[in-house]
Amino acid sequence: MTEHGSLVGRVAVVTGGTRGIGRAIALTLAKRGAAVGVSFRQNEEAARDTEQALVGTGARAMAARCDVRDEAAVAAFFEQVATTLGQVDILVNNAGVVNDALVAFLDRPRWDDVMAVNLGGPFMCVRAVLRGMLMQHWGRIINIASRSADIGPPGQTAYSASKAGLVGFTRTLAREVASYGVLVNAVSPGLIETELIKAMPQQQRQGLRALIPLGRPGRPDEVAALVAFLASDGASYITGQAIGVDGGLG
Ligand code: NDP
Repeated sequence: MTEHGSLVGRVAVVTGGTRGIGRAIALTLAKRGAAVGVSFRQNEEAARDTEQALVGTGARAMAARCDVRDEAAVAAFFEQVATTLGQVDILVNNAGVVNDALVAFLDRPRWDDVMAVNLGGPFMCVRAVLRGMLMQHWGRIINIASRSADIGPPGQTAYSASKAGLVGFTRTLAREVASYGVLVNAVSPGLIETELIKAMPQQQRQGLRALIPLGRPGRPDEVAALVAFLASDGASYITGQAIGVDGGLG
């Protein structure tokens, strides 16, 4: 049993952990003492920069390319993590994409891609680590969903459906594995300042901002703080939840 909040001795993976919210999560876990593996899809420069920052915290760390849509790549990535850092104790399914369009203009390839990354990715990553967690009777799976899942902003049918699906996946998996000491939760950010929301039309961003009681978008480190808590022994009685980090967004 580790001290409350400490992640010393744990091995964590953060998918899409090289930019934005994922990078903040990876750095926070590393600062709490975890060894951290991060994956990315294409931005090698951000990956190397994050890997250096992780090593700078004193943590054991690695970054590797792994498209979460590709089952073989996912299997190879987790084998590399196991060899380099050890068996995964904490999985943060963070990699995600937005591809907004009104349904009338949303074609099948765009729908399929959002589902493949946001929902298929977590499924395959969980499959890669679950057996080890079940055998050691300890594990934490944290899925980064979105408040879009329950708010349903126009233009985000694919994104909202994928994230609502991820919440359903979270609740069901939590029940399946609770008796093995594996806890599964979702974290649902509201509007957080990253590259991802820069792609959102200005008008939509302003509209969302007006709905935030705290009056500002969130920062990636504010999401990371909750993820780090859920990953720790302090969160030993929390499972099957979807917890908002959204400034009170209605
Ligand atoms: P960013 O776009 O800033 O970063 C996305 C990360 O995911 C990058 O590391 C990217 O890799 C990686 N990624 C994208 N597609 C794939 C893929 N197919 N395989 C592997 N990695 C991939 O996103 P954010 O930090 O803003 O978002 C992180 C998570 O938080 C997402 O799940 C998002 O849906 C969720 N979220 C974000 C909100 C926000 O306001 N920002 C609000 C609610 C939820 P690369 O650098 O190589 O492209």
